[in-house]
Amino acid sequence: MDFEDHLGFAQQLDQRDPLAHMRDEFHIPTIKGTDQAEIYLCGNSLGLQPKRTASYLQDELHKWQTLGVKGHFDCEYPWMPYHEFLTAESAKLVGAKPAEVVCMNSLTANLHFLMVSFYQPTAKRHKIMIEDHAFPSDHYAVESQIKFHGHDPAASLVLLKPRAGEETLRLDDILAAIDEHADELALIMLPGVQYYTGQVFDMQAIADAAQHHHITVGFDLAHAAGNIPMQLHDWGVDFAAWCTYKYLNSGPGSVAGCFVHEKHHDNPDLPRFAGWWGHDKATRFKMENHFVPIQSAEGWQLSNPPILSLAAIRASLDTFKQAGGIDALRDKSKQLTAYMRFLLQQRLPEQVQIITPDDPLSGCQLSLTITTEQHSGQAIFAAIEAAGVTGDWREPNVIRVAPVPLYNRFTDCHRFVEILEAAL
Ligand SMILES: *Cc1c(COP(=O)(O)O)cnc(C)c1O
Repeated sequence: MDFEDHLGFAQQLDQRDPLAHMRDEFHIPTIKGTDQAEIYLCGNSLGLQPKRTASYLQDELHKWQTLGVKGHFDCEYPWMPYHEFLTAESAKLVGAKPAEVVCMNSLTANLHFLMVSFYQPTAKRHKIMIEDHAFPSDHYAVESQIKFHGHDPAASLVLLKPRAGEETLRLDDILAAIDEHADELALIMLPGVQYYTGQVFDMQAIADAAQHHHITVGFDLAHAAGNIPMQLHDWGVDFAAWCTYKYLNSGPGSVAGCFVHEKHHDNPDLPRFAGWWGHDKATRFKMENHFVPIQSAEGWQLSNPPILSLAAIRASLDTFKQAGGIDALRDKSKQLTAYMRFLLQQRLPEQVQIITPDDPLSGCQLSLTITTEQHSGQAIFAAIEAAGVTGDWREPNVIRVAPVPLYNRFTDCHRFVEILEAAL
């Protein structure tokens, strides 16, 4: 589409947007001391609250008030199988079979528990490949797993770095590194979408290369789930984990998601850290000592989950369903982010660099570095924040902004670029 740089054009795009009504499903924070909506571009960090979330939580509180322990069984959405009510929609978001997904724990905890099963170093195959600038929690998790198995991160960690002078990784370089270390790699663990640069990784090509060399491959989908469509099952990805408080709008610290490919479900040789919620449902309450895992991703569960958090996830998944699913949202998202990119290139080609690659290698988020003599990037960030924009600043040098198709408008993109121009 040919874009135009004026407010009337942005308003037209909003009027023609078939998903425009979804914004009304959300609480939009207001600028302090006013009733004017913020330009909220921070759904990559904490997604906004769906209006229906409160009633979903209230329902569970009410059940607890009126039914006590019986809330586990004799009611609508009983707690005992509550996580199962999230399965169908979660599976669609990541392109999985229902048996391959479960909501449990938190993201970093899931990465650890999945590595217990999927990182089995031997004297020859002991390396894990991650990015040089992986999200710190992922780096800590991987490094501590290597040490836990008695290996040395200096020898067992393969770190992918962009070429000198470049911000993002090239697929060819990732594939070449996989070839180079193929015989020693036990695990490749990469993001679906990179948190700092917003780069979308070609998960299919990476999974293909991994399978070609019989290397286990897992993805951290923190910035991918609810942002871009995926086909984890068809790509043959071994495992994945994601949080639900970013694009999945399920509230701060909400329970995470997890994917285990069905090819692993009935493998009795896989080690795992077990808990009673992973035990066969038919015999769980016989309270016997012999662990019989559920033959699905649910077999990796440990504990009975926090229902209030799951209720918030269910509310959020229902908004995705109402919007027509991730493919419909992705169509709008491409337009929305392309429009923001167009405006930035049109108005601020000298002062703002967009380090996020072009579509299809981007999702919602654009990562911007500011290059002016007069102001630091951080000062510019403070100025746009004061003017009603919520984005985020990431060390060392990036402003991240993410127009989210569920609740952001084309006019938000326009207003944001005007505010940024004024700040500069
Ligand atoms: C947001 C994010 C996390 C956060 O981990 P928690 O365990 O949810 O605190 C971890 N890794 C990546 C890549 C992230 O983007």
